[in-house]
Amino acid sequence: MSADGEAAVAAVERVAERLERERDYLTELDSAIGDADHGGNMARGWASAAEAVRELDDPDPATVAKATGRTLMSEVGGASGPLYGGSLVFASVELDDGLTPESAVAFAETYLEKVRDRGDASVGDQTMVDALVPLVHTFKKSIEVDGLPPVVALAKAVDAAERGAAFTVPIRARKGRASYLGWRSVGHKDPGATSTLFVAESLLETARD
Ligand code: ADP
Ligand code: MG
Ligand code: MG
Repeated sequence: MSADGEAAVAAVERVAERLERERDYLTELDSAIGDADHGGNMARGWASAAEAVRELDDPDPATVAKATGRTLMSEVGGASGPLYGGSLVFASVELDDGLTPESAVAFAETYLEKVRDRGDASVGDQTMVDALVPLVHTFKKSIEVDGLPPVVALAKAVDAAERGAAFTVPIRARKGRASYLGWRSVGHKDPGATSTLFVAESLLETARD
């Protein structure tokens, strides 16, 4: 197995472990403004993805991302399955020639673009986009403008995503289930923005190893 393929499998496993630990917390967030299934959706989906990528023979980052996306699409219903899974499948193509700082930026940008295409949410709608936009923009700028090493760029991006997830608290939901609550969604942290942050933190931990 290539070192990058091995790291990609380890990344999915680490995400799965983290989301299992955060299952109850994400459920709690989704019970306040949704239907209390985001913790289960993420924990179950990523656990299946970890199983799927462990079974790949000779995986590379693109194959791992594709298998993860396909598994999330088939295992997770609701809004988050197609948003996470479908976007990952599309973005995986950017890693076809391997994992480099440039392809990582392209992967992140395509992922964001697909989440926006599918969900039609903008920053400020109290969704995962509020964590993703600062994550992806900070990552891209840190690599392309500041010339930082990828791990440092990812650390900055994770900090930005954390602020983005926090930003969902004082705003009103305009997309997804939480939008049915109208003004009552104000004061609650968005579950999908929070799980997006956890995924990014797990990727950073893997990159640091
Ligand atoms: P469901 O809402 O179908 O039960 P989940 O609970 O698994 O699905 O996921 C909810 C999360 O999905 C929300 O917290 C939000 O971040 C995200 N989400 C919902 N609708 C959209 C959308 N149109 N665009 C982007 N993200 C969305
Ligand atoms: Mg839900
Ligand atoms: Mg649901």
